Amino acid sequence: MYDYLVVGAGLAGSTLAERLASQLGAAVLVIDKRSHVAGNTYDPLDADGLRYHRYGPHIFHTNARHVVAYLSAFTRWRPYEHRVLARIAGDLVPIPINRTTINRLYGLDLDPSGVARFLAARAETRERIDNSEQMILSRVGRELYETFFRDYTRKQWGLDPAELDASVCGRIPTRTNDDDRYFGDSFQAMPADGFTAMVTRMLDHPRIEVVTGSDFASIADRARFNHVIYTGPIDEFFGCKFGRLPYRSLRFEFATHDTPWMQPAGCVNEPSAGVPYTRTTEYKHLTGQHHAKTILSREYPVADGDPYYPIPRPDNRELYRKYAVLAAAQRNATFVGRLAEYKYFNMDQVVASALAAFDELARTAAVAS
Ligand code: FAD
Ligand code: UDP
Repeated sequence: MYDYLVVGAGLAGSTLAERLASQLGAAVLVIDKRSHVAGNTYDPLDADGLRYHRYGPHIFHTNARHVVAYLSAFTRWRPYEHRVLARIAGDLVPIPINRTTINRLYGLDLDPSGVARFLAARAETRERIDNSEQMILSRVGRELYETFFRDYTRKQWGLDPAELDASVCGRIPTRTNDDDRYFGDSFQAMPADGFTAMVTRMLDHPRIEVVTGSDFASIADRARFNHVIYTGPIDEFFGCKFGRLPYRSLRFEFATHDTPWMQPAGCVNEPSAGVPYTRTTEYKHLTGQHHAKTILSREYPVADGDPYYPIPRPDNRELYRKYAVLAAAQRNATFVGRLAEYKYFNMDQVVASALAAFDELARTAAVAS
């Protein structure tokens, strides 16, 4: 008999399991249908001893100090500022678009205020921004939109930017200075021993039992528990009774090369329609590993496969809301994480959401006792 069954050993499930066991003394069973913990942050060593991210590049960045404070109990950090280059007509230029990008693409030598004027002259201003196309047009105009965003987005999502919420392409800032970091957050670092080691430490508690290779559907009737923390796809929990929520998936192609380095940055993006994959990641940039060889992955977006990305657009949000109403009515179930909340969350947002869910559970537990 467990107090809590946690479905999913990713960051959402592991944060809740850790808090429930260590703060409330609860007996927790954590299951995951995969053969490992850490969810999409899983970062094992390959046969050569090279660390890679099995489900694509994961870089930790946040402005949430309470999330850093919480995770720091389970890991040391290695400072890492992610940089990305986009391949445009054979050249590699910084993305997010910055001063270097504009000067290189257009053969100019503008200072930051010159870049600001350059972009303002091209930006298509409008009163309302309803989608990702309008978002980028309003920042940089049509030519740069088509060069960097239109075809990358069509590949990544199988949709035109006009069909996606403004927040999707809005994740990428535009800069007029030389800052070429992908993220602007105050804290940017990687867990020193990797994400899997961090999650393993979170789950290492005498009140937590972890069973991998175990699906909720096959265990729900057999395990005895008072409350379920569900971090899988919310539509599946309810038997997809209102229809399936769409998720975007990826196929990863990994390759190891017998040379220390292959590319000058962590990721090289491919915004051109002629290249079928979106980006190439060289993991040693992210992990800081020293090794005579190097491992890279290419990402090929696909419709079917593991659910990696909720697809942010109005009709999907409407469908999600129907499931969210059912979820809110469940007294013995809590829905947390990227798939259960159907939100394009970064890792820090997932941990923040799990910490908030724990506070709520602790409050109701205190009221009940
Ligand atoms: P998950 O990690 O998906 O964990 C859910 C777990 O539940 C899975 O392990 C799954 O197997 C399990 N599960 C589902 N259904 C069942 C079931 N029925 N029974 C048993 N187990 C089940 N975030 C960043 O902050 N920075 C990045 O650079 C970044 N890069 C990313 C790159 C890619 C390609 C992707 C896909 C995501 C990226 N993210 C990044 C987002 C990050 O992966 C998520 O925010 C975070 O890992 C989600 O944690 P979670 O616990 O909600 O979900
Ligand atoms: N994007 C783009 N070109 C790029 C990088 C990003 O069009 O070179 C768009 C694309 O729609 C992508 C979104 O911006 O899905 C968010 O990019 P991010 O790198 O944050 O995606 P993630 O790492 O979550 O896959």
